[in-house]
Amino acid sequence: MLQQTQVSTAIPYYLKFMEKFPDLLSLANSHLDTALSYWAGLGYYARARNLHAAAIQILENHAGIFPSQLDLVIKLPGIGLSTASAILSIAENQPLAICDGNVKRVLSRLHCVDFPLNTPSAEKILWDLAEQYMPEKNCADYSQAIMDLGATLCTKSQPRCLDCPVNSICQAYLTKTQETYPIPKKPLARKTKYQSCLIFITSTHIALTQRPNTGIWGGLFTPIMANRLNNGSNPKDHPLFSQHAHHPYIYIDKQKHVFTHFDLYYDAYVFKLENPALIENTNWYSFEILETLALPAPIKTLLIKTKIYKKNLGVPQ
Ligand code: SF4
Repeated sequence: MLQQTQVSTAIPYYLKFMEKFPDLLSLANSHLDTALSYWAGLGYYARARNLHAAAIQILENHAGIFPSQLDLVIKLPGIGLSTASAILSIAENQPLAICDGNVKRVLSRLHCVDFPLNTPSAEKILWDLAEQYMPEKNCADYSQAIMDLGATLCTKSQPRCLDCPVNSICQAYLTKTQETYPIPKKPLARKTKYQSCLIFITSTHIALTQRPNTGIWGGLFTPIMANRLNNGSNPKDHPLFSQHAHHPYIYIDKQKHVFTHFDLYYDAYVFKLENPALIENTNWYSFEILETLALPAPIKTLLIKTKIYKKNLGVPQ
């Protein structure tokens, strides 16, 4: 939950999730939709899908016991080399180097690494350093300590160098270049996508589609999100729109949602139908059960705005 997410944001989700899924068995035996509904609003849903899939794999392939070998842990969905090493070094005291974002920041400042973070040169230097620093004993303490150092003292801005236990060997501190390191990642070109959100309702139900597991909002429920070629293409050209244009509809202003690599703009139309119609790839859901479905936070906000979703935002009770 803490990948790309602040601790204060994750805590309420963590508490609800742990209450619902207190152990591996309860998560592995749950339906993915239930797990996703406890993640809805937190974003980066691949994390929830991977967690659920990993629980099932551990149950099926390892008799429900978390594996102790690095090569087996790396095979679990969503677990890369650094996460696998962090788990095994902290849980089992194994001398496996970790190199997550916090550790990279500390090491790049300690050694004034002069390559942007997402370059192969920086990756190699930082992993080599991480391996050199990993002790043979007290591995759990070391891993926790260097991650905490990055999270609490060696912060992105205004690192607290005077309180830092390694300031006497820190090249960045000694040369007053803490703010220069790490050298920022090369920016990825941002893209823009345009969609129209077609919301079909009756007086009691809404038509929703469950998105494929890969891609944005994977596995979550949304109204129909129709692709548009660009900002100028007319959403009314969509076949569903023209098919239902004789029904009364409300236009909701353009919405924007920022993803990691692109901005999504979408305008929304609410169609009020007398009776549920057959709409391809959708099912009709009662408004009353909306709270139990995993909806992306911006869609939930949109449904609140349109008074379809009446409860406040939040994880399911
Ligand atoms: S001295 Fe400052 S820059 Fe260097 S590791 Fe410590 S907190 Fe980070």
